[in-house]
Amino acid sequence: MSFEATITSIHEMTPEVKQFVVEANGEFEYEPGQHTTVQFDPDEAGIDAEEDGTVVRPYTATNLPGTDAITLAIKRYDDGTASVYMHERETGDTITLGELEGNLTVRDTDEDVAFVSTGTGITPMIPMLRHYLKEGTGEVYFFYGEKTQESIMYRETLDTFETEHENLSVIYSLSDEEWDGPTGHVQEHIEDHIDDVANTRYYTCGVPQMVVDTKERLDELGVPDDHVVSEGWEDGAVGE
Ligand SMILES: Cc1cc2nc3c(=O)[nH]c(=O)nc-3n(C[C@H](O)[C@H](O)[C@H](O)COP(=O)(O)OP(=O)(O)OC[C@H]3O[C@@H](n4cnc5c(N)ncnc54)[C@H](O)[C@@H]3O)c2cc1C
Repeated sequence: MSFEATITSIHEMTPEVKQFVVEANGEFEYEPGQHTTVQFDPDEAGIDAEEDGTVVRPYTATNLPGTDAITLAIKRYDDGTASVYMHERETGDTITLGELEGNLTVRDTDEDVAFVSTGTGITPMIPMLRHYLKEGTGEVYFFYGEKTQESIMYRETLDTFETEHENLSVIYSLSDEEWDGPTGHVQEHIEDHIDDVANTRYYTCGVPQMVVDTKERLDELGVPDDHVVSEGWEDGAVGE
């Protein structure tokens, strides 16, 4: 099922990522971490597309449910299709969305959790973190990998959450810039910050290779498979 929604606000989060507030006629119902789909006819929109017919791409609702609006944070790929379409939208435009769905949701708010993501893989982590901070009782570790400081998404939000919640630790790791914080692949820092690595639940999302590497690292650290909940972005998508 699909429905129409109106873009009511657009904000540049980083040089490549825009946040869209999208309002519909009725309340959005979903679990934090789930995604909708943006659907459009590329010929009508004047967008080059490799596929025939309607383009459909998943995008994650980054706010908590319960209102008639969702926020989407979308990174533009210059050779992309839906991301280019969305970056060309303006406030007041109507877009077509699909039902919200997906498996990446918080399993248990009483256990210690770690959110491990890179790039736009942070989008499901943000609503899951918000949900956990409201209801959770354990320790929360938020690991986020990006190339440079300017491409870190949600830094203001995460830094503020960290000052407000004593049970939250936020660890950024940069792969393309020297700074005074951690560098390299984000999953390499897990054991430096988590005391009880094997008894923590991990939620991880990013390009497929990052998810594979993170799962391998967790396996080496003795984390059982059923403690890891993951989602890889599109199959075949290149690294960030
Ligand atoms: C469950 C789920 C939720 C998602 N949520 C979000 C979200 O909240 N925000 C967001 O920005 N994206 C999200 N994505 C990714 C999104 O659905 C698209 O894959 C992305 O926007 C590119 O689509 P496109 O049509 O512009 O590019 P396409 O036309 O599909 O691809 C064109 C080219 O773009 C590049 N490309 C495409 N995808 C990626 C990628 N993931 N990493 C690196 N390069 C890529 C490649 O060079 C590719 O050849 C999500 C994906 C999934 C599976």
